Amino acid sequence: MLVLGAGVQGLSTGVVLAESGCRVRIRTAEHPQETTSAVAGAIWGPTSLHPVERARRWAARTHAVFLDLAAHPETGVHSTLGTVASRTGFPESPPGSLGLLDGVRPCGAGELPSGFAVGLRATVPLVDMPRYLEYLTNRFLEAGGELVLGPVSGLAEAAEESPLVVNCTGVAARELVGDPGVRPVSGHHVVVDNPGIEEYFVELGDTGEWASYMPHGQRLVLGGTAVEHDWSRTPDSRAAEGILRRCGAIQPLLHDVRIRGTIVGLRPTSDAVRLHTEHFAGARVVHNYGHGGSGVMVSWGCAQEVAELVLAEAR
Ligand SMILES: Cc1cc2nc3c(=O)[nH]c(=O)nc-3n(C[C@H](O)[C@H](O)[C@H](O)COP(=O)(O)OP(=O)(O)OC[C@H]3O[C@@H](n4cnc5c(N)ncnc54)[C@H](O)[C@@H]3O)c2cc1C
Repeated sequence: MLVLGAGVQGLSTGVVLAESGCRVRIRTAEHPQETTSAVAGAIWGPTSLHPVERARRWAARTHAVFLDLAAHPETGVHSTLGTVASRTGFPESPPGSLGLLDGVRPCGAGELPSGFAVGLRATVPLVDMPRYLEYLTNRFLEAGGELVLGPVSGLAEAAEESPLVVNCTGVAARELVGDPGVRPVSGHHVVVDNPGIEEYFVELGDTGEWASYMPHGQRLVLGGTAVEHDWSRTPDSRAAEGILRRCGAIQPLLHDVRIRGTIVGLRPTSDAVRLHTEHFAGARVVHNYGHGGSGVMVSWGCAQEVAELVLAEAR
């Protein structure tokens, strides 16, 4: 079978299918380290993904896998304590998927930065994406999978290559399958040398700019921005300066850090995740795209559901 895409969705799906005994080829337009997935922070955190109940199930399944992976630091997954906070209040408390966790507690006096109204302390999985994508790639290859660098020109070419296609092309699905409901929401991260921060911090809000930082050993990922309908992956110095200013206002250790670089990704955003089967040009196509800003934290749940669809119909 043919999987399109080698971001976190394509690779996780490839791993689940290959480890189930399927012969899987992944075709990707970019090296995994060049994808939007490589840009993510990435936290298993609050999500507003739809459909809500399915997204919660995917998040819960992914959480369980991440807890296992966190026992093996070489995977890039690690359980970390930190703070999720808001200047105005949470829409629901605890927000989104944090309600699935035990041990979440409100911030005590002195635990919130100035200007914040509410906050929660929670231990959640963080994922060092460059390392994690390398781990997934190796795991896929070790399970017998084949990874081919080279895009398909359209679904017709994919259907000609294989009677079973899994479409994990992120925001590129907009053009590939003609789905105008999927749009890019660009996001910047500034990557710096970690000055000794061990906890994460995430500001929740509904503006397109906020403060967040996620430690991955010597590497610290600072965010964040969100610009609707923006296709540019070229780093913007004003966006980077804003991130450094907002994070520095919360964490004094960030006032003078060595900057490694600024990276930009395109969140594949839609009103609801597209995970379903269709028939196209004689092939069965299972779509799995449109995960917005939460594609990492639902990745194993989605991959497992794709595999269930594929394997159930194959029997
Ligand atoms: C700044 C930022 C921060 C984020 N933080 C988080 C976070 O903390 N937690 C979280 O869960 N999520 C986070 N996300 C969201 C997450 O990164 C995405 O939801 C996720 O990476 C989407 O994965 P994907 O595999 O669907 O898409 P992508 O990573 O975009 O991969 C798409 C793949 O499809 C391939 N492709 C495209 N066209 C073709 C074609 N024609 N033929 C073959 N292959 C093709 C591409 O080359 C690529 O390999 C963040 C995103 C950004 C930008």
